[in-house]
Amino acid sequence: ASTIGIVGGGQLGRMLAIAAARLGYRVHIYAPDADSPAAEVAAEFTCAGYDDLNALAMFAARVDVATYEFENIPVAALDALAAVVPLHPSPRAIGVAQDRLAEKTFVADLGVPVAPWAPVDDRAGLDAAIAAVGTPAILKTRRFGYDGKGQGRLATPADADAAWDQIGQAPAVLEGHVAFDREFSVLLCRGQDGAVVTWDAPDNTHVDGILATSIVPATGIVAAQAADATATAVRIADALGYVGTLACEFFASTAGPVFNEMAPRVHNSGHWTIEGARTSQFENHIRAVCGLPLGGTDTVHPRVEMHNLIGDQANAWDEILSDPTAHLHLYGKADARPGRKMGHVTRLLD
Ligand code: ATP
Ligand code: MG
Ligand code: MG
Repeated sequence: ASTIGIVGGGQLGRMLAIAAARLGYRVHIYAPDADSPAAEVAAEFTCAGYDDLNALAMFAARVDVATYEFENIPVAALDALAAVVPLHPSPRAIGVAQDRLAEKTFVADLGVPVAPWAPVDDRAGLDAAIAAVGTPAILKTRRFGYDGKGQGRLATPADADAAWDQIGQAPAVLEGHVAFDREFSVLLCRGQDGAVVTWDAPDNTHVDGILATSIVPATGIVAAQAADATATAVRIADALGYVGTLACEFFASTAGPVFNEMAPRVHNSGHWTIEGARTSQFENHIRAVCGLPLGGTDTVHPRVEMHNLIGDQANAWDEILSDPTAHLHLYGKADARPGRKMGHVTRLLD
């Protein structure tokens, strides 16, 4: 393949395109908005929307292989794309991951510990779910949630109305609250031949529902549970016949690692791999999608810290550049809205 199509134009697509360009590939981005962060470093094919099948067919005709950087693409559109051009990961993988109910069912069926959950299809269903799951609990929309959006918390059953109004839509799932010490993620990449590589599992800190920091190597409870969770993530990838980089988020609880959710794509908690690992999550994703051997994933520095630059935090770029341990990444977004991921900085520390 000499031209790679990437569906989605955000910063993940941008960093994928940069990794692909380094390997000599041309990249075409398929995105509904002009001037997306990815389009600034690749050719862009703008469309009316992700379900614009005519535009998708024209896009498919220009590329030799396709992937995606965004999980909320209609599966019907990806099926249409996959009928014309090799698409990795498969539409099935994204279909499972983009619906919290399908995801939890799939993962629990593999015997993986997850939070107790119940589907919620309407307001009466929420009361039934509370009776089944108990409180404290979190009500989450089945689809389209990210950065903690589309969630409502219930400390007691009396919070049901407030949580329902907060998410404002069904279908949803109610999840029992997991008492965890830390959060971490497993990043892996699986090739077309089924070979799997894994990176060190980062210890992740969220602020206001948004990833703030990923640190490797993890210590304490995360270090103790990383091997177990990594084996689980590999099992999930194998069961999906997955090709590409996959991220699985876990809670480190005293009872062991509890699966939270997966992302069928490169992931924010893997940005540290650009400078901190022998091969980045982006390059290995491109290698997998193109059927190439995967690169080594060992961590190349004693301590690696990735900090997201959210909203106006990116304004401190000049200060960051004066730190010799810091690698600055800016995504080329003009509007630094609060809560928006504008860039990140990775520090290689001793
Ligand atoms: P992302 O941006 O990672 O895709 P998201 O919007 O899909 O986020 P989740 O990862 O499901 O949301 O939840 C966001 C955060 O809320 C988690 O990282 C965790 O801190 C907390 N959380 C979610 N579910 C639970 C749970 N069952 N028990 C305890 N905390 C939870
Ligand atoms: Mg999510
Ligand atoms: Mg999450």
